[in-house]
Amino acid sequence: MIPEFHRELCTDCGGCVGVCPVDAVELWRGDVDITEACIECDLCVKACPTGALTSQTWPPTEDED
Ligand code: SF4
Ligand code: SF4
Repeated sequence: MIPEFHRELCTDCGGCVGVCPVDAVELWRGDVDITEACIECDLCVKACPTGALTSQTWPPTEDED
């Protein structure tokens, strides 16, 4: 799954853009767009300091029930 973006949490820091190995993250004034180039590596999700990017596998859920 391509990461989900939560605009209200984004601080426009640019961290996600810098870590993407395939330049799939487009950032414009606090709005992130992930393009079809995404290989679903979750690096941007892990790099985001505010949790504005999430995926089905990150962050890990503490409670599996
Ligand atoms: S999941 Fe990986 S490939 Fe996709 S946008 Fe994030 S860093 Fe780039
Ligand atoms: S790393 Fe997170 S807070 Fe920073 S620009 Fe990307 S989505 Fe926004």
